[in-house]
Amino acid sequence: MNTSAETRASERTELLLRGCALLGRTDPVLADLLDEEVGRQTATLAMIASASVADPSVLAAAGSAFSNVTAEGYPGARYHPGAAGFDAIERLAVERAKAAFGARYANVQPHSCSSANISVLTALLPPGGVLLGLDLDSGGHLTHGSPASLTGRHFTAVHYGLDADGLIDYEGAAELARTHRPGVIIAGASAYPRTIDFARFRAIADSVGAYLVADISHIAGLVVTGEHLSPIDLAHVTTTSTYKQLGGPRGGLILIGREHDTLGPDGRSTLAQLMQRGVFPRSQGTPDPAAIAAKARALDMVVQPAFKETTRRIVADAQALAAALTARGHRVLTGGTDNHMVLLEILGRGVTGVVAERALEECGILANRNRIPGDVKPPLVASGLRLGTNVLAQRGMGTAEMAHCARLLHEVLAATTAVSDTEYRLDPAVRRRTRTEVAELCGRFPLPYYAPTSADAETRTGF
Ligand SMILES: *Cc1c(COP(=O)(O)O)cnc(C)c1O
Repeated sequence: MNTSAETRASERTELLLRGCALLGRTDPVLADLLDEEVGRQTATLAMIASASVADPSVLAAAGSAFSNVTAEGYPGARYHPGAAGFDAIERLAVERAKAAFGARYANVQPHSCSSANISVLTALLPPGGVLLGLDLDSGGHLTHGSPASLTGRHFTAVHYGLDADGLIDYEGAAELARTHRPGVIIAGASAYPRTIDFARFRAIADSVGAYLVADISHIAGLVVTGEHLSPIDLAHVTTTSTYKQLGGPRGGLILIGREHDTLGPDGRSTLAQLMQRGVFPRSQGTPDPAAIAAKARALDMVVQPAFKETTRRIVADAQALAAALTARGHRVLTGGTDNHMVLLEILGRGVTGVVAERALEECGILANRNRIPGDVKPPLVASGLRLGTNVLAQRGMGTAEMAHCARLLHEVLAATTAVSDTEYRLDPAVRRRTRTEVAELCGRFPLPYYAPTSADAETRTGF
């Protein structure tokens, strides 16, 4: 590093440190809340399928002075002066997104995958246009046309579901496509443990002249490393969150592969042009330069060999966890998993999803309630539990530790007695013992770089 780079690095570092010191001095209430969170995450077994842990370098990039730059538009075509530095950062993020996913076009400005989906849908469909997506209770996302979402109110949404084995009902989707002639078909899920056949969806889309949008929010990390088949060249447009499996900041991406210069529904603009306009000015204002810097950082980390190793472990861990839970008599939906996610039907054990979630949280284990196909309980109660292995794998836990995690889950659920849909009793001895074991496990597998003592984390980190 030359001297001027060192000076700049130290100016940036000093600014962050001064900010932390100022916060502690002038706003101890907020500082305490922020401090507690690091300790909590370090000591908690997070099995939230939509979560991952951002490398501290990602957090540092997100906390930069670029937050002060206001610049609508795109690199080289801003509506404000003073954006030369930000232009370079956004170009870097775009190049890294294209490289990571093998895409020809990338938009790094969406503030979330929800806003990415809204940008894409409004670019491809007229108001009232027909959208075909996976039903929410079958594992779809709100933005795939749920009546609770703008996408279900602004467009005419039709939903496909699952077959008797809990797998996507491709035949049913094809039939619905023939009947309703959607302008857009969305392939993607928030709660689906199996491989999604994007090629089959593309054939369905082609059979009715629809655009295929792949939403890989949950599996983006697996797609980058080839652990899940990539939809980039199969779908017309692909969207993702950047914080779920990519270990990035809160945010979204829009990606296009070989269809980048395919014409959109207006017959004049390419899909890439439509996506540029669909994000800004149609559905967003100024981009968040600090978040885009953090996306650039995360997108560089996901192409490193260590991340490939982590994603392999994510899948192996999920499969081991599913097998261990099945062996203990739990009902694993679809009988297993191909990705990072394990879905449990939990009501059959006499507790609801929310009761299971709360009892586990008391013991330091985080997993969230989830609606499952044919669910008879309302969304805030639910009959299922969704588990994910992203963070466990990031901590370096392997299949041996999954047997341990399955035992902990099982013991807590077995010691939980439902009093109602939302109330329960948990055996205090089991709670005490599980907390001790969770603390021991988390101590043995620290979050890489989050604890000052985790020197050996160097060899384990994949994010
Ligand atoms: C989480 C999720 C989203 C929304 O992502 P946000 O970045 O949280 O807005 C969209 N689609 C799918 C499939 C998701 O799982």
